[in-house]
Amino acid sequence: MNPAVRDQFDVLKALVVADEEIRKLDVELVKEREALEGVKKDLVRVREQIEQERHRYDEIEHDRGARIQEGRVLQQQLERSREKMNRTRNEKESNAVQRELEETRKLLRDVEDAVGKRSLELDELRKSIIDHEEQEAGYVARIGETEGAVSKRLQEIEAERGEKAGVRDGVAKKLPPVVLRKYDQIRAKRLSGAARLEAGRCKACNMSIPPQLAQRIARADVLEQCPSCNRFLYIDATPPSTPPAT
Ligand SMILES: [Zn+2]
Repeated sequence: MNPAVRDQFDVLKALVVADEEIRKLDVELVKEREALEGVKKDLVRVREQIEQERHRYDEIEHDRGARIQEGRVLQQQLERSREKMNRTRNEKESNAVQRELEETRKLLRDVEDAVGKRSLELDELRKSIIDHEEQEAGYVARIGETEGAVSKRLQEIEAERGEKAGVRDGVAKKLPPVVLRKYDQIRAKRLSGAARLEAGRCKACNMSIPPQLAQRIARADVLEQCPSCNRFLYIDATPPSTPPAT
């Protein structure tokens, strides 16, 4: 047995625990930040919708005004045709004016239909804008409520992370630099850089380790990596903790 290797086993074990704690805090940080981001995105989206709807409302209102104006002109034309009808002298003239009247009436009906349709569209849009403004107010309120709590929580997690990172660095320093570098490389790829060797298997990837290699590790002769996942393998000398008897 090599006492230096025996010590490195303990350091690796502590390092894996510290790194896992830090990783969980990082996941939490991302989650907290995203929670607020989601509502902020919803707010931007609903504001864009409101802007588009208001723009569309103005367009339709403008078009409706133009149609109403068109209707007034047709109405005047209709009155003129009626007056003309009173002055007709024969059937041919009266037929011609009658056709004119019918055509104008048809145009007027179309225009009135269009005005009615635009009015309905404006009603719908007005309702939709009110709904979206209510949503907007809800998002603003939620951001206001959440922002304080989230930034407080973020600060707490960041402080905890800072502490843990300090402890971790203290532990990591006990490893030879070349081992630590490799450990960090493996961790970057696989989330953890070391794994327990137990019953001849790597506890991280569950591959069985060739017996001779497993024996060398068990004797703490040398620091070895799992042939399958590359993690450093260590022997955990302390028995697994059992829940206290009640
Ligand atoms: Zn492995």
